[in-house]
Amino acid sequence: MLNQEFEIAVEKVPQDQLKSKPAQDKLGFGQFFSDHMFSMKWNRKQGWHQAAIQPYRQLDLDPAAMVLHYGQAIFEGMKAYRAEDGRILLFRPQDNFARMNLSAVRMCMPRFPEERVLQALRSLIYLDREWVPRSEGASLYIRPTMIATEPMLGLRAAEEYQFFIIACPVGAYYAEGFNPTTIYVEDQYVRAVPGGVGDAKTAGNYAASLKAQIAAQKKGYTQVLWLDAREHKYIEEVGTSNIFFMINDVLLTPPLEGSILPGITRDSVLQLARDWEIRVEERPISIDEIITASENGTLQESFGTGTAAVIAPVGELCYKESSIQINQGTTGPLAKRLYEELQGIQFGSRADHHEWVVPVR
Ligand SMILES: *Cc1c(COP(=O)(O)O)cnc(C)c1O
Repeated sequence: MLNQEFEIAVEKVPQDQLKSKPAQDKLGFGQFFSDHMFSMKWNRKQGWHQAAIQPYRQLDLDPAAMVLHYGQAIFEGMKAYRAEDGRILLFRPQDNFARMNLSAVRMCMPRFPEERVLQALRSLIYLDREWVPRSEGASLYIRPTMIATEPMLGLRAAEEYQFFIIACPVGAYYAEGFNPTTIYVEDQYVRAVPGGVGDAKTAGNYAASLKAQIAAQKKGYTQVLWLDAREHKYIEEVGTSNIFFMINDVLLTPPLEGSILPGITRDSVLQLARDWEIRVEERPISIDEIITASENGTLQESFGTGTAAVIAPVGELCYKESSIQINQGTTGPLAKRLYEELQGIQFGSRADHHEWVVPVR
């Protein structure tokens, strides 16, 4: 069913019914959606079918739809950027679709044809190109999603699914400057367990993270740093980002062993650091190692990586009531260099040596 041809029907919103666009300085994150969406359906008999770019609209969902009860839901997050010369650029979209198919396999959902869906995405973004913001640092956030739609309450893998892509303009993440965040090291709640679904971008992971996130915010921190589920000792991720530390001129990040989401920004950072001949190690990092490095003055920098912020410098960690300052609470030179390089590639102003950028047309 994977390679079957499907025609993509296009139903356009009439010109006089296009939505009015939000003010460029009030985009926020994920509140306004573009005029069109891509959608397709799957069932065992027909495989993927009914592929269409159509007006953005509500889903037609049965209250017994299995996604609402047993949580077969996966998604992706990527962005389209408007270059200086007017081109619209996607960043490593093939990697998002490849990862989404890995999530699909983990959640017993059908795989989809990545090349065809990438083509559909490019058509969708081209059609809605006026939604790609022009203001500095802003972009069009893209959310591919797949859900189980079969109405059925017996627990098993569903036999009907819907896949869709929606898009929303988002403002510059660092509207108030590229400043570090403060992070609470969570030593009770965990995000993912060995053998679980931490490496899949599946909806339940995010619902499960809310309680710790709210508790950290109440204490005055922006995000949670997650430790491993077995020993509450090894560092896993920060919020919904991967995490890096620079200790003694070595760039460290936890290895991908099943409980960590394999971030595309993470992979890009590792590649750039290797290009720049920075020593990198993907290995377990204990919270004790961070405390020791802080005490002996070898902890230089820390930052999170993800599509939304690209690079999010960490200025302070709070672990069991004590605070660890990083780089005097300021943004470090490597975080800054990586941020500028990645944004430069994404917005088309810097050379793209790894063929990461895919023009929409
Ligand atoms: C999406 C996500 C990331 C970052 O992945 P990118 O591909 O870099 O955007 C990291 N951790 C979690 C838990 C995520 O959901």
